[in-house]
Amino acid sequence: MTTRTPYALTTAIPYVNARPHLGHALEYIQSDAIARWHRQLGEDVFFLSGADENSLKNVRAAEAEGVPTRELVDRNTQYFIDLMQTMEVSLDDFIRTVEAKHFAGVQKLIRASRPEDIYKQKYSGLYCVGCEAFYQPEELVDGKCPEHLTPPELIEEENYFFKLSNYQAQLEELIASDTYKIVPAERKNEILSFIRSGLKDFSISRSQERARGWGIPFPGDEKQVVYVWYDALGNYITGMDYAVPENDGAAGERYGRYWPAALHVIGKGIIRFHAVYWPAMLLSAGVPLPKALFVHGYITVNGQKMSKSLGAVVDPLEVMKQYGVEPVRYYMLRYISPTQDGDFSEEQLRQSYTSDLANGIGNLLSRTLAMIEKNADAQVRVMDVTSADEAAVVRKFEETFVEYERLMNGFEFSQALSRVWEAVATLDKYINDKAPWHVAKDPARREELLTIYWVLAEGLRCLGSLLHAAMPKTAEEIWHRLGLAQSPSEVSWEIQKTWGLLQTGFTVTKGAPLFPRLEEPAK
Ligand SMILES: [Zn+2]
Repeated sequence: MTTRTPYALTTAIPYVNARPHLGHALEYIQSDAIARWHRQLGEDVFFLSGADENSLKNVRAAEAEGVPTRELVDRNTQYFIDLMQTMEVSLDDFIRTVEAKHFAGVQKLIRASRPEDIYKQKYSGLYCVGCEAFYQPEELVDGKCPEHLTPPELIEEENYFFKLSNYQAQLEELIASDTYKIVPAERKNEILSFIRSGLKDFSISRSQERARGWGIPFPGDEKQVVYVWYDALGNYITGMDYAVPENDGAAGERYGRYWPAALHVIGKGIIRFHAVYWPAMLLSAGVPLPKALFVHGYITVNGQKMSKSLGAVVDPLEVMKQYGVEPVRYYMLRYISPTQDGDFSEEQLRQSYTSDLANGIGNLLSRTLAMIEKNADAQVRVMDVTSADEAAVVRKFEETFVEYERLMNGFEFSQALSRVWEAVATLDKYINDKAPWHVAKDPARREELLTIYWVLAEGLRCLGSLLHAAMPKTAEEIWHRLGLAQSPSEVSWEIQKTWGLLQTGFTVTKGAPLFPRLEEPAK
């Protein structure tokens, strides 16, 4: 029996005080592309997401609506689950922080911490409920939270603190050496200089009163509730069965198989929690650290950060209803930078749909299959590819597979897809150079014609393999129309990246356009 390499990855878990926006969609699409890519490589993937339900924000949102907090989180969490299902996000599990196994796991993590790392202290500070974080006065912009542009509240109470300063040297070493790897490098450097500037201890509890009794009771002190960031970060292990309540809080089989996770995917706004607090919490509790952190930027709309408090919200469900799920996945992966801020533009989305999808891969597939149906009884025949023109196409795909693999492993989705579209252009040029419509008129050139069809069909098969992570349904549909019964997730990558997977006797089906032309936008 061969053991497959485990590859566990997680998304951040959003506060569910409002509906998801396009920024959430970006993170889910990126994470899903990574999960599908690693499954395609044959790894044993476990893909976890969830909802951060114990936050004070949710309590306030419920109070504002006049509904019980539990009712609000049940309803809003469902919006996130629905969005992920619509977007074909291939989760293996979804952890809700109201679950018993999450409560048990977070309490277990605190109990496992070194006693000298946790102390009680009277504290006063400026707290932004939007961020669920304290700010130093000098971090504010005009007295306001730099993320939310709202004034923080002055909080004064006795809390438990975590002695982050105990871990400064160790964290610096782990991150500098890439033992805990942060991508991209500029984020790694930013965190290293933050660590070197000196780490302040942080509060890991709040009073029951301030929390309105909502949240996880602090172990051994019923007057305190676990601070929501400590609680939320714990989801990455509780969702992997760090503590199973039915089994006296012992870790489950899933934990042994998948932890430490290969990757956390997060947005740049929460990097300190994930690159500093989280590894320190784990070190204190003697839990192995995750291997890597991938940090994406923000999506702006007209140059403005998207958040409910600031306006500028695009509903991802509406966009997908209009353009289809996979064109939106494609656009976000190809035209929004994986790691820098990117601007969402409906005009650019339409343009990418028309030029890359409808006139690009969609047209290439339908014109190829139409020719094979009409002139070769819809049959593909495996042919020699020894002549120079054909060998050049084969070489292009070999190179594309190598580059694609390298870029996907480095989370360079946009560049990976650019390479794939270079291969689309190679096939387009090959058709135009070969002019099979002329060749088809001359019965003496039958072999030549079948060779052209073979190169195009197998080239499209390769494109299906290369599109799987970004557009799984499109990739599968391309394979099915070429007569393959399987999908690109079911065949080993070694075989997929080798020219010649299609076999003689496969019957192709042209079918309806994969990407129908868009209507003109209403004026
Ligand atoms: Zn804030």
